Amino acid sequence: MQKATRHQTRDHNSRLVLKTIFNDGPISRAEIARRTRLTRPTVSTLAADLLDGDLVIETGRGPSAGGKRPTLLSINDAGPCVLTLDLSSDDYRAALVTLRGDVVRRAACSAAGLRGDEAQTCIYRLVDELLPTEALLGIGVATPGLVDPQRGVVLRAVNRGWIDLPLRELLAARYDRPVYVANDSHMAALAEYTYGAGPSGGNLIVVRVTQGIGAGVILSGRPFYGDGFGAGEIGHVVVDVGGALCSCGNRGCLETTSSIPAMLRAAKAADRRHSLLAGDAPLTWPRFIAAVAAHDPLAVDVAVCAGCHLGAAVAHLVGAYNIQSIVLAGDIAALGDVFLDAVQAEMHQRVLPAMAAATTVRYPSLDAAQVADITTLGAAALVMQRELGIL
Ligand SMILES: [Zn+2]
Repeated sequence: MQKATRHQTRDHNSRLVLKTIFNDGPISRAEIARRTRLTRPTVSTLAADLLDGDLVIETGRGPSAGGKRPTLLSINDAGPCVLTLDLSSDDYRAALVTLRGDVVRRAACSAAGLRGDEAQTCIYRLVDELLPTEALLGIGVATPGLVDPQRGVVLRAVNRGWIDLPLRELLAARYDRPVYVANDSHMAALAEYTYGAGPSGGNLIVVRVTQGIGAGVILSGRPFYGDGFGAGEIGHVVVDVGGALCSCGNRGCLETTSSIPAMLRAAKAADRRHSLLAGDAPLTWPRFIAAVAAHDPLAVDVAVCAGCHLGAAVAHLVGAYNIQSIVLAGDIAALGDVFLDAVQAEMHQRVLPAMAAATTVRYPSLDAAQVADITTLGAAALVMQRELGIL
């Protein structure tokens, strides 16, 4: 019993040292001891283990504090990495991500129209392609649908026909590595929290608008999944009673008013004779974005209308959680201020004024490359949180 306790203490201290190197490195052993309040011999022993495990490296020497110049420790960019799978679109994407959050290798596989076992085979092909011979910290999967991240089971992913799919068990058995599976919107939120300008309070909501709509909630720096793992599932909350028929069977869900397909449908259905969207050329998302950017009245109207409905849904999140940082992620960011202002204005009208005034709605603070990899980075961050206790 005592041995187990000692082991746990060592594990805890090791994470503390690694976290200090991650956040504050390059840093000397003496400085780590000062910041963690561990003894210098303890820090030296733990640092030796981390060096052995390739998680940290010695990088040069720091300034002398009177005697010999101390050796500095940094996170090893060339050390173990995380293999991520982003299953959020029809193109499944895999990546190898370093401990610093840099993507070093990629692979992709079209899963358009694939369901059940066929979609799974696509996943295995991607992992086989990227599985490194060197150390792998673990595999992180971001998937659409209702996911139990504790057991790594996809409870329900309608588009893939997955019901109670034990994805973690399947991948762990096949590749003998730690595997974590979570909902893609939850992982987008974790990425913005981890790699973006994280909010000081540790709370954040990221609403992701793509082909569908979902939100991820971060409470005190950790994803909040909810009792049934559906926290943030706002895509099928009705915002337009009696509105358009949704894929879920209901009418007027948020996805029927504010998703990308919904906006394109609304634009197609409108009188386009005097719009930049007139003519027989296919009405694509890039074309729609360009029309909004050129202040085309029809395109702007459609975007504003979609933004208002989203703002109504965001108001409920603000009322329920009183979280002051709301981030809109996904392809939607290309619509710029037109969309953002509509969401913000509608939210303001529907929330207690003092609460609304303290709430900011914005696009991600990640750079463009990171935004494109938002679910990938979130899946990598989850593995690092769980396996190393950093981030
Ligand atoms: Zn629905």
